[in-house]
Amino acid sequence: MTKTDPESSGSDDKKNLKDLTRAELRAFVADELGEPAFRGDQLFRWIWARGARSFEEMTDLGRALRARLAGVAVIPTGAVKKRTPASDGTVKVLTELAGGASVETVWIPDWGPGHAGTIPEPDTPPEPGARAQVPRPSRITLCLSTQYGCAWGCRFCYTATMGLGRDLRAWEIADQVLVATREAPDALPTPVDPGSKPGDKGGDKVALNLVYMGMGEPLANLEATIRSIQILTDEQGLAIPPRRITVSTVGLVPAIERLIDETGVRLAVSLHATTDAQRDEIMPVNRKWKLGELLDAVRALPMGKRDHVTFEYILLAGVNDTPEDARRLVRLTHGLRAKVNLIPFNPHPGAPYARPSDEAVSAFKEALRDKGVHTYVRRARGDDVLAACGQLAGEGKVQRRPV
Ligand code: SF4
Repeated sequence: MTKTDPESSGSDDKKNLKDLTRAELRAFVADELGEPAFRGDQLFRWIWARGARSFEEMTDLGRALRARLAGVAVIPTGAVKKRTPASDGTVKVLTELAGGASVETVWIPDWGPGHAGTIPEPDTPPEPGARAQVPRPSRITLCLSTQYGCAWGCRFCYTATMGLGRDLRAWEIADQVLVATREAPDALPTPVDPGSKPGDKGGDKVALNLVYMGMGEPLANLEATIRSIQILTDEQGLAIPPRRITVSTVGLVPAIERLIDETGVRLAVSLHATTDAQRDEIMPVNRKWKLGELLDAVRALPMGKRDHVTFEYILLAGVNDTPEDARRLVRLTHGLRAKVNLIPFNPHPGAPYARPSDEAVSAFKEALRDKGVHTYVRRARGDDVLAACGQLAGEGKVQRRPV
């Protein structure tokens, strides 16, 4: 378990450098410290490309500047409370934040076809007494949280049972990437090599995808979501391409256009129903923005040749998995460059729904594919430790303490 860095628990009047974009960091060192603005670039690289957690580590900054920084600024990091590995290699990381908040981030390795739900056998057996080496995944997906709890009350979602504690700040969203990769199983490589410099090709690096699909509704915390993306995509930091970031929304219609305009990320829409009556019932957000309005907003987005929107559709047995639903879903997505991800419901304690049979899932998928809809069934990852879609709920009800 990592402990909170001593510099992270500094007094409130110190500047939190992790919450600043690179441009703001350049302005801070110039305006507040009277240093050349490029020192801001150096700081940004240390924090985000190299994962530095103290000014002491920043050896290319002079000793005097490091001492001044320690007097006026902090580089906070979340304190890992719990790390829960699942049998398929997925790891759920519970991080403690200020004010009694905590969030879950899920680290999902992918070893490619042929390894559904299992960790591959090592290529060579370990030496007696040595730790088993697990083959390197070809891709890692990190599922990030944007709020402590959630206010939107979707009936299939475990996070909804917590209520909303608070919005996360931008640095608390972006820092999950550093924390989760630090907490990755140590038999596996981290996608972020703390020793690498910006621009390093790093042949050993693993492709990293980010999905904003953890606890909370990203568009209900829009400013922090956009700012976190600006930090994570900065070419001098982690340099994650916007096309490798997917932000999921239940349909906060007025915020969709701004998110895509300002970040260029991919959009995923949680649809989960094919009529307003059905959606009103399972997703209260639909009482505010109806299906038609939501789909109009998606149709209005500028789409490049290689762009597509993803529709997430949780299959709930006997609720939204009928042949009529499949036909309506074909009609709703008609004319859109879209992909449909079917997610057989992942049960959680007290859930009022059940997962459909494999046959029902397959029939639904084929009904869509027969009509030319690009349809995939999302494999549950980490469901044995409540790390799969719709199963995140930290430590239950939100805890409220003054921040
Ligand atoms: S599905 Fe998303 S928006 Fe709905 S309650 Fe869960 S976290 Fe909130």
